[in-house]
Amino acid sequence: VALLLDACPVCRQTLDASVLAQSPALCPGCGTDLAPFIELTGRAEHYARLGLEWLSRGRVDVAREVARRLKSLHSDPGTGYSELLARLAVIDGDIESAERALIHIEGAAREDIAASLDTARLNVRRARELYNYALSAAREGNHSGAAESLARAVELAPREAALWQLKAKVDLKAGLWTRLYDDLGALDACGVRPAQLTGVERLLPALPEAV
Ligand SMILES: [Zn+2]
Repeated sequence: VALLLDACPVCRQTLDASVLAQSPALCPGCGTDLAPFIELTGRAEHYARLGLEWLSRGRVDVAREVARRLKSLHSDPGTGYSELLARLAVIDGDIESAERALIHIEGAAREDIAASLDTARLNVRRARELYNYALSAAREGNHSGAAESLARAVELAPREAALWQLKAKVDLKAGLWTRLYDDLGALDACGVRPAQLTGVERLLPALPEAV
């Protein structure tokens, strides 16, 4: 197990592996018994591995909850936590967060995540090409063609705000109300709804009842 507890949680004195291997393990700075912190650190790594296991079984929701709780349990939950964060970020298409977490990961996991990141970057490039196509299609009045391109683009790169902004305008012009409500939800979730679309719901037909 990698050395996760690299400083005393009480006085911040730097710790090395020889201190942690002693029994009792006492901080050379303030004399605090480090045993509970060592145990907590080991447990954080254990839970991070459980989170990764849930993720490999497709339970993104459980993995996300594990990551959230680990962060409140421990200020530096370790490499398993970094791997969990990186993999969740890849799923979200959040390339920057994945790159940040990747710095702390080594070995096969690093290569695996780096490969997924390459795919995610490629998807963003393809999404931007679709955006450009949609922009010219919309200018020519081809709103349904633009709407289809943008529907594919947001699947490839769900975190690109500019895609959702154009998509909402195009779906409005194409009369695709159900899609437009989804677009507005996505824009509001990131706080990037364009000013022209403020209160646009008042002008729209109500959605049909959910089935
Ligand atoms: Zn100390």
